[in-house]
Amino acid sequence: MYAFNYHRPNSLDAAAQALAANEDAKLLAGGQTMLPTMKQRLAMPSDLIDLSGIAELRGVCEDGDAVVVGAMTTHAEVAANEIVRSKIPALAKLADGIGDPQVRNRGTLGGSIANADPAADYPAAVVGLGATVKTNKREIAADDFFVGLFETALEPGELVVSVRFPVPEAAAYAKFDHPASRYAIVGVMVARTGGGVRVGITGAAPSAFRQTEMEQALAGNFAPDALDGISVSADGLNGDIHASAEYRAHLVGVMAKRAVIAARG
Ligand SMILES: Cc1cc2nc3c(=O)[nH]c(=O)nc-3n(C[C@H](O)[C@H](O)[C@H](O)COP(=O)(O)OP(=O)(O)OC[C@H]3O[C@@H](n4cnc5c(N)ncnc54)[C@H](O)[C@@H]3O)c2cc1C
Repeated sequence: MYAFNYHRPNSLDAAAQALAANEDAKLLAGGQTMLPTMKQRLAMPSDLIDLSGIAELRGVCEDGDAVVVGAMTTHAEVAANEIVRSKIPALAKLADGIGDPQVRNRGTLGGSIANADPAADYPAAVVGLGATVKTNKREIAADDFFVGLFETALEPGELVVSVRFPVPEAAAYAKFDHPASRYAIVGVMVARTGGGVRVGITGAAPSAFRQTEMEQALAGNFAPDALDGISVSADGLNGDIHASAEYRAHLVGVMAKRAVIAARG
């Protein structure tokens, strides 16, 4: 490690001030990505602002017809939370399937979506459930949050405070995971709501996206065979040593069907 200034503010305002005051400052959540990145010198922040002392960033609450999860809530906390388990069990299951126990006990919702790894699980939930990301400056709709590979709509000086997940009528997440890391080769969140159906996909492309053709088909008939005949193009999908773009395109269809079957119960 090299020298940097360490801050541990105990309020959101103090964190935002420290972030605004130092152009090369970086936020630290659970450190699951940030610390390895620093060790490899891929990031060399002048200041590290540890969010772990800010109580208002942690926890889960109900807000009308939605469940609000604080940015610093760990994956293990989401997986075990009674509100999440009863209102959006698909979200609890998704959190429970992230990485391993060590990662789930340190990794956070805010760190995951701010990092926007193309293979991360939460982006499928944010997009598939039609969530709203609350920052210290504004609210960002799910459809506008993930803009590219490791890239979000967050601006300099902006930090994720919480995510508001509307409670769906039915939802499920199905992922084809990498056997070592458990990252998603492809993960699909399907949600049926009063306003229609949403299909959020992670792992397949540089950033999470909605599959609107599937959404339309499922809105008319929320059954796996509604997806028969929908061919997912490999154009623009990720291809790497783990899976080709064509294989990922195929997996989108398979995982979407599995998610619909699970959501129907
Ligand atoms: C071995 C391993 C296996 C993993 N497997 C999976 C998996 O199966 N599925 C999966 O989805 N993920 C997986 N992950 C990722 C993990 O779940 C974490 O969510 C991810 O690494 C981010 O870590 P963190 O929350 O500790 O954030 P940090 O590493 O502390 O921060 C990550 C980035 O987000 C920024 N940041 C943090 N908090 C905020 C905030 N509130 N507002 C704005 N920016 C913020 C930081 O500045 C940094 O740039 C894995 C990680 C490891 C190490």
